[in-house]
Amino acid sequence: MPELTRTQQQRAATRQKIQCKKARTEHRRTLAKLRKLLEIYGYDNLEEMADAVYFNIRPLGICTNARCSFTTEVDSDQDRGWCNKCSTNSVKSVLVLLGLI
Ligand SMILES: [Zn+2]
Repeated sequence: MPELTRTQQQRAATRQKIQCKKARTEHRRTLAKLRKLLEIYGYDNLEEMADAVYFNIRPLGICTNARCSFTTEVDSDQDRGWCNKCSTNSVKSVLVLLGLI
């Protein structure tokens, strides 16, 4: 592998920092969405909610857009479901949000 110049190294480090920041933001947003679902549907914890979704008792999904908390019932593997509020394919199932699917 060719050696990187100092500028290339700095650019790579900057890119990595940006990717880490995006990942942290995404992670925080996912946790906020899961907390919102717990609050709306009255589950005590994520395990209880995940079980209900997994066994199709209540197959929940939530819009992943920043200012929207539209929830609906979705297939357990849904990762691009329709949001009736935003009119975008931004609804993900709880199992997808938890990384279980
Ligand atoms: Zn939405």
